[in-house]
Parts: sequence; C-alpha cells; structure tokens
Amino acid sequence: MTAYTTLGLYIDGRFIEADEGRVSEPVLDPANGGTLATLPHATRAELEEAVAAAARAFARWRTTSPLERSGILRRAAALLRERMDRLCTTMTLEQGKPLAEARGEWTHACEILEWCAEEGRRVYGRIVPSRSFGLEHLVLTEPVGPAAVFTPWNFPALTPARKLAAGLAAGCTVILKASEETPGSAVEIVRALHDAGLPAGCAQLVFGVPSEVSEQLIAAPAIRKVSFTGSTAVGRKLMKLAAEGPKRTTMELGGNAPVLIFADADYDRTVKTLATGKFRNAGQVCVSPARFFVHESLIDRFTDDIVRHVEALQVGSGLAEGSVMGPLANSRRVEAMERFVADAEARGGTIRVGGLRHGNAGNFFRPTVVSGLEGDALLFSEECFGPILPVAPFATVEEAIAKANAVAAGLAGYAFTSSIENAQAAMHRVRTGMVGINTLAISTPETPFGGVGESGHGSEGGVEGLQAYLDTKLVSLA
Ligand code: NAD
Repeated sequence: MTAYTTLGLYIDGRFIEADEGRVSEPVLDPANGGTLATLPHATRAELEEAVAAAARAFARWRTTSPLERSGILRRAAALLRERMDRLCTTMTLEQGKPLAEARGEWTHACEILEWCAEEGRRVYGRIVPSRSFGLEHLVLTEPVGPAAVFTPWNFPALTPARKLAAGLAAGCTVILKASEETPGSAVEIVRALHDAGLPAGCAQLVFGVPSEVSEQLIAAPAIRKVSFTGSTAVGRKLMKLAAEGPKRTTMELGGNAPVLIFADADYDRTVKTLATGKFRNAGQVCVSPARFFVHESLIDRFTDDIVRHVEALQVGSGLAEGSVMGPLANSRRVEAMERFVADAEARGGTIRVGGLRHGNAGNFFRPTVVSGLEGDALLFSEECFGPILPVAPFATVEEAIAKANAVAAGLAGYAFTSSIENAQAAMHRVRTGMVGINTLAISTPETPFGGVGESGHGSEGGVEGLQAYLDTKLVSLA
C-alpha cells in the first residue's frame, strides 16, 4: 500500500488520531474505491475547545510582529517543499488528479504561503490630510479575529493554503474544516505549520458532519470571520448563519465559465490551450472553461479538432505514468456526468466522443465533447464540474456576450481573439470576477481570485486576499 498521510484533528497544538469509540469515517481512493484511512470526527466539546483556543491564541497572535509571523509561514512552506514527494502521493490518492497536477498544486500552495509571508509585512495604514492643523486622521488596519474557514475536495491543498496563509499573515487565528473526502493534504499543511513553530491555537483543523460543524463554529461568538469555498447552495446556507452574527464573509462559490472563441483567434494555440485546460483536474475546477461558444465560421473545424485532441487523452490512475486525467473525486460527480449526458441526448445533442464511464472500477468518466445543444440544455445552464465540453455557435459579438452572461454565476470568463475590439468586449461586458483573454492562467498568489453574482463575493489572493482578514479603524487625534 502506498504511503498515505496519517490523519488527525489538530486542536490547540495537539494532533488527535482516530481511536475506538470515536465517530469516524473512511477516506476512499477514487481510483478504485478502496479505503485509504479512517478520519476522526471532532466532538461538540472539541469544537468548543477549538474556538476557545483560537480566541486565546488571537490575543497573542494579533500582537506578534509581522516579521515573526512571516518567518513561521516561510518555514512552513520550506517544510512542505522538503516533503513534496509524499504530499503529491497523498493528494493523488485522496483526490485522483495525476501526480504532475498534484505537484503543480502543492507548488502553488507553497508560493501562497511565501507570498502571504511577505505581504503580511506590508499591511500599511494611511494618513488622511485633515481639515485643521493639529488634527490627525490615521487609517489603521486590525485583524478581524478568529476565523472559521471551510474548504472543498477539488483543490485539497490550494484552498486551505489560501485561507490559512492570508488569515495568519493578517494576524487572525484560523479554524479550518477541510473536506472530509480529501483530508490528508490539509493535515500536511497544519503539520508543517506546527513543525515551523506556529503557537498552539493559531491554526486548527477539524472534521465532522459538515452542516453540524459549520453551524456550531459560525454560531460561536468568538468567531468573527467566515470564509467558504464550495457550491452556491452551501454558500447561501453559511451566509445565513453568518448573518446572525453578523460576521464578515468571503464566499468563493461555483462558476460556469463561458469561453468565446472569435473568428480571429490564434486558432492552433486556442485549440491546444482549451483541449488541455478543460480536462485539468477532470474539469472539477470552479474556473474551468465550461460553456464553449464558437464563431459559426469556425465551429465545425474547432469541434473536429477538439475531438481529435480529446481522443488522445490518456485516462487512468493519477499514480500511473502517462495519465493526464484521473478519476473524478467522488461517485456523486460520475452520477452528475451521467445526468448531464442524458439531458444532452434527450435534447437532441450529439455526443461526439466519450459520454460514458471508463473501466469498471473507480470514478472514471471519459472526456466528453457534445455539440448541437441550445442554451436551455443543462450543460449550458448548470455548472457541470466535470470532463464534459459542450460547443455551440454564435454569429455576432452581441450574441456571444449575451450567451456568456446568460447564467447567474459569474466567476471566470474567457475569450480567444486577436482583435482589441473583441478583447475589450469580453473585458468590459462579460459579467464575471475574472476574465482570461487568450489564456486560462488566471490564478496566481499575487492576483485576486473571486466572483460576482451567484459565484459569491470577496477575493482570495493578492492584497485583496489579506484585506479580507482585516478591519479598518479610523483614529482622529487632536
Ligand atoms: P456540496 O454542495 O454538498 O458540497 C460542496 C462542499 O461544501 C464540500 O466540500 C462539502 O464538504 C462542503 N459542505 C457541504 N455542506 C456544508 C455545510 N453545511 N457546511 C460547511 N461545508 C459544507 O456538493 P459536492 O457534491 O461536494 O459538490 C457539488 C458542487 O459543488 C459542484 O458541482 C460544484 O458546483 C460545487 N463545488 C465548487 C467548488 C469550488 O471550488 N467553488 C468546489 C467543490 C464543489
């Protein structure tokens, strides 16, 4: 059996492993359905203890110098880099993505810790000129307080790293409830923080029944900030719970990214970028290109070429050499793909390639291309979050923009074109928090990441990501 991380909760500086008598759940390998490990759940009393420890630790951490905080985050990143091989295996085992993608994600997670370590040292205030001499207006920032943060299974290291690094760098303490389906990567991050000398209570990790944990943590008076990445449906519930506080929220919810491929696009580069980018993490990416609108003069050629690329994609265990697409992360996603395909067929769409499960063990689904659908098909209205690529034609820029904006989600949007006019149309008129023009590379530690509309609010990454954990205080001094 390949080494998988030893799982545990992490509360007030102590790791707590599963033992007899404790409620726990199995963690499954999506490539074969086997059990990787047993994950302990936190009891209500332990969640209370985690909140109390976060509140105690906050009193010290908020006054710890940014330089000292920076050193701890940097050391944690260095430890993760040293442990990289083991971390990649753990991520691939629990989530399914190929090892090369796991390495890319862990590297990104380390870079986030390093970037926040530095940016935390540059949380500047402002002096506003006053209306009379001798009166000073100082704009200060202060950490919001203990934060409860919730992360999903598609990026088991990146999403916890974003919330932990920004919160800790800003001077907040953080209780993380990571996905119970991919807990090992989160355990590795808190272990690295622990080994790097993070004081007890500053970062904690809990697992349990998601709705029970989130209700208890968000209701706790000491918790001042809530950050969630996941579906819009769950985001709505957590916002309602946070409204009782009221508590500040950052919501990074589902997307349904439009891709506009104009007639003047750099054709070969566009096909290559999209044929590989769409199937990264088997399409289980909130900014994954989802709804493909292609200029009518190109659509037949584009569809044929994409199908050729897709036919060559090697699907298999993420641990196997040569696999470029692993299994879906859980069986719910496979069932969802079957629902999208059935709807497409019922509406007269053509399954150009794929459309079926792959093999007879694990959560594999074939990379799929569908043509001949209208806007009311599920693939054009609901987030698919999987390896299905639907294509439809457009004739004018107006039509392309209208199709792009036809859903309530607004996370990412993409356009491929060589003309300034089309680029400007996409840049200014596609209603999303992020726009990629001739690129899918829109996520870096130093740039803001977030959506509008049903995709949520607030940003992670960039200076905006730190601001999300800071309150503004005005001091007027006479
Ligand atoms: P889901 O809506 O049940 O869960 C989404 C995530 O939220 C999971 O990680 C889950 O553990 C967590 N969660 C669920 N209920 C919660 C609660 N009450 N409190 C706190 N956390 C809770 O669905 P799912 O089957 O895991 O995923 C389905 C859809 O979610 C996908 O189709 C996609 O649209 C969306 N999703 C988005 C992202 C993202 O990166 N934005 C990540 C994962 C899933």
